[in-house]
Amino acid sequence: MNLSEKLTHPIFKLVSKIADEQHIETYVIGGFVRDLILNRPSKDIDIMTIGSGVELAETVGKTIGNDTKVSVFKNFGTAMLHYEDYEIEFVGARKESYSENSRKPHVEDGTLEDDQNRRDFTINAMAISLNKATFGELIDPFYGLEDLRDMIIRTPLDPDITFSDDPLRMFRAVRFASQLYFDIEPETFEAIHRNLHRIEILSEERIAEELNKIILSPKPSYGFKLLDASGMLNIVLPEITNLKGVEKIGECGHKDNFLHTLEVLDNIAQVSDNLWLRWAALLHDIAKPQTKKYDQKIGWTFHAHEFIGAKMVPKIFARLHLPMNEKMRYVQKLVELHLRPIALVEDIVTDSAVRRLLFEAGDDIDDLMLLCKADITSKNREKVVRYKTNFTLVEQKLVELEEKDRIRNFKLPITGEEIMEMFNLQPCKTVGIIKDAVKDAILDGAIPNDHESAKQLAIKVYNRL
Ligand code: ATP
Repeated sequence: MNLSEKLTHPIFKLVSKIADEQHIETYVIGGFVRDLILNRPSKDIDIMTIGSGVELAETVGKTIGNDTKVSVFKNFGTAMLHYEDYEIEFVGARKESYSENSRKPHVEDGTLEDDQNRRDFTINAMAISLNKATFGELIDPFYGLEDLRDMIIRTPLDPDITFSDDPLRMFRAVRFASQLYFDIEPETFEAIHRNLHRIEILSEERIAEELNKIILSPKPSYGFKLLDASGMLNIVLPEITNLKGVEKIGECGHKDNFLHTLEVLDNIAQVSDNLWLRWAALLHDIAKPQTKKYDQKIGWTFHAHEFIGAKMVPKIFARLHLPMNEKMRYVQKLVELHLRPIALVEDIVTDSAVRRLLFEAGDDIDDLMLLCKADITSKNREKVVRYKTNFTLVEQKLVELEEKDRIRNFKLPITGEEIMEMFNLQPCKTVGIIKDAVKDAILDGAIPNDHESAKQLAIKVYNRL
């Protein structure tokens, strides 16, 4: 097969010319080739040469000119440059051998065949020749092209060895399946089961990176079901596998919270690419198992699961080495507030309750509303229609009240310092009491959100104390 017509980017002709001048075999290889055949746009090009990748990169950089910066990674024997908006990496062909307790291989120079043998999946092991005589020719020793057509993830060599050598490949298998909506070939899938114990040599960061890519795929539930079926989910996110199952007392069962969570995650994936909003969807019901109770009158309850769930978020993030900054706090906040809009919807929608919700959610109110809407997965059509209608009402009220009262980034129109000055007070409990009273009055709509009204109320409250 010749793919020269697809190699339209000028970098390929340029590299081809230099490779021929230097008499070195050179290929484009890996993910770029896979994506080229799938017509998926990709901005990362891996150039592999039977020789020094660094030297090739330096010559290519000089030829491009314009002070093209070539970054050399001596330890890895690789070099990288940016050309237009492409990131191009150069590496010499290598042969790898692994030791028992590390996923970092021993590396030596190798042939094209050695280099293709060390790749993770058949669809990632294809190379296209760049030398003039064979320009565009596909070298596909493991029938990756067929696997692309059949939508299959398969390791090129014995999957037990491939996975035991570098267990990250097990997560990558699920990640690619989820991103591309491919199947994992049965022998490859079974080998994951047999090599689960190897996960222990992986760093949390690398696992989290793959989890994030699964979460960001178009239908993340597919990836999570594969993670679950392979046994990997129970190792890295046991809180999620704990959500599985339905308990029944008499005729009364609750929904399967694992399947519900995945449905919510898919719903969110349809409306937002925000990774952290997707994490919030994944974790929104995380505390349901430990809060589950059966009540004779109302059936199954999960009281306070949103608060306990919010407390679990930092622990899960810390364990997976996910960021512990405002991103974690955002997920935590959404988990904690995820029932609030729906509680409003079920009740009479008062201005005061909507203002309070706006105050607590602040700028994250829109994301909270998305999450809450995605959370409506009831099979009862009537209930869904009723919820959705009331939801629209809450949304309208949110817009109206925000325009009127500017609660979203609410700052008290009177400061503690001013209160202390007004009544000649030192910092004390009274200042807090007056501030809270002003805040409540504004959120309840008892006084307008302005300085003069706040001041008048402060005087009233102080005189009453
Ligand atoms: P994406 O850019 O979406 O992550 P990709 O296939 O380009 O996809 P990279 O992680 O950039 O993924 O890796 C580039 C290529 O390097 C892969 O296509 C594969 O051939 C090889 N590769 C990467 N990681 C591994 C690994 N752990 N084991 C074996 N081969 C790997």
